[in-house]
Amino acid sequence: MSEQQFPTASGPRRWQVDVANVVKLWGFDGARLERELSEMREHFGRWVLSVAKDGRLVRCPGCNGVLVHDRGVRCVACERPFQAKRDTHRPAWFGLLPPIGLDGLGAIRDAIMTKPPAQHVVGTHPSIGRYLLVPLVAILPAAFPIAPVQVHYLPTIRHVAGMPQEPVSHAFHMLPNEQMCLFAGSEWQSEMSCRETLQQRAYAHVIKLLNYANGKKSAFAIVS
Ligand SMILES: [Zn+2]
Repeated sequence: MSEQQFPTASGPRRWQVDVANVVKLWGFDGARLERELSEMREHFGRWVLSVAKDGRLVRCPGCNGVLVHDRGVRCVACERPFQAKRDTHRPAWFGLLPPIGLDGLGAIRDAIMTKPPAQHVVGTHPSIGRYLLVPLVAILPAAFPIAPVQVHYLPTIRHVAGMPQEPVSHAFHMLPNEQMCLFAGSEWQSEMSCRETLQQRAYAHVIKLLNYANGKKSAFAIVS
């Protein structure tokens, strides 16, 4: 059993993730899925398991709400069922990373604070100063866990001031559709989880990319 929640105008809505449907629809190992859910619940408690297609989050066709795995797949807002397809859709985590401090990023800080990219959140807290919350989509590909979880930025990350616009880059480790290049050839191990990938790889990628946008072109250089 894995409960998730999502904020709505009338307070948080809660549901149990329909693990049986995910297993049946996509042929997942149920025990592995339960482990992923449990780790995410502990470390990324506000993230929800949703649905992606071609590297992007799929939204409710009726109201543009977030899709969740509640009694099949349905919209978290209007509760309309959604027919996810095994071959076109993938289960994917969606949520915001922990705060990233902006005070040290003088070239881009004010522009981000004034006009954050859509679906990104800014704020100020005494412990960290000005900060940015970056949304990500972490997709479980068909070959998972033999193949690694695929972590994507939202396309609006490109609206950050100073952000490079090349679709694909070795300089800032970007694959098509704003997918982070997180693993060299043999680095991924099938025991690695979504939670570990987000904590140990994706979070660092965001910090490096913001530093790159701030002018540090060596942000992704390997430090030995
Ligand atoms: Zn809806």
